[in-house]
Amino acid sequence: MENILEVKNLSVGFDIDENFYYALNNINLSFEKAKIHALAGESGCGKSVFINTILNLLPKNAKVKSGEINFLNQNLLNFSQDKMRNIRGTLISLIPQDPFMSLNPLYTIENQLLEVRALENKTKNEALEIIKTSLEKTRIKNIDTVLKSYPHELSGGMKQRIIISMALISNSELILADEPTTALDASISNSILDLISELKNEGKTVILITHDLSIVSNYCDSVTIMYLGDVVESTKSNILFKNPLHPYTKALLGALPDKRGKKLENIKGQISPITEIIEGCKFHPRCNCAMDICKKQKPVLKLNNETFCACHLIEESKH
Ligand code: SF4
Repeated sequence: MENILEVKNLSVGFDIDENFYYALNNINLSFEKAKIHALAGESGCGKSVFINTILNLLPKNAKVKSGEINFLNQNLLNFSQDKMRNIRGTLISLIPQDPFMSLNPLYTIENQLLEVRALENKTKNEALEIIKTSLEKTRIKNIDTVLKSYPHELSGGMKQRIIISMALISNSELILADEPTTALDASISNSILDLISELKNEGKTVILITHDLSIVSNYCDSVTIMYLGDVVESTKSNILFKNPLHPYTKALLGALPDKRGKKLENIKGQISPITEIIEGCKFHPRCNCAMDICKKQKPVLKLNNETFCACHLIEESKH
């Protein structure tokens, strides 16, 4: 098992009104090469802060307080902005929520694909050959017409295919997909997710951000559940769906539509803003199993069989 990315003790926060608030707390995660890894949780859990920290694209009021992000055995946090600019779009690519934001409305698709850094030293004919091969892989039809089109002439699904093609042309090792189907019609979401999950067959590693656990069950090898900047559960996705441990994970699963017509369960309350300091387990105001200790003492991540879980209900397994 080879890890492409190892995150150690990563803590990140924001200066807000002269105070500092943590958005990620001491995150430790490893990502195995050529797998699809999910980061899941409600909005505000820290998923997007996590991938923006990897890409060094945090806003000005953010600070990385501690940690390492070791990508191919080099700590990205030691890289200058110039060095990171070279890594983004080459070794690491982003598939954003809204593909329109990533394409320049003033240039044809062909001109934008010819700009991909990996094609710099190719002749135009060689570059077009590579571009067409990658468009075929993303199952784009009428390739010649698409190449001459401007982004506004294409559907959202087609634009997302173009972004995935860019990642293929760049030969990126790591692809960060930030809720890549949120802006798309449900009818084409599955075909885009199929394409993203096939990237592992090309040796790519994908970190897929989602709030939808049904996507995790269908497409992902491993899953990490986050809550207010903490990892609360992390395991292989087949294990999570057979035996979820954390009450937050169970609540997310209970809120999934059920084919047997079972009533959906709401998670009580709402996720707090990061400016609200919650003592003990941050999920305790919403947890149906909360005990006295949960209000006072923060649970630490423990390994229980093959699952890391942070909850006072869960015992560490003895090996
Ligand atoms: Fe619920 Fe307590 Fe576990 Fe937190 S530590 S999830 S409050 S039981």
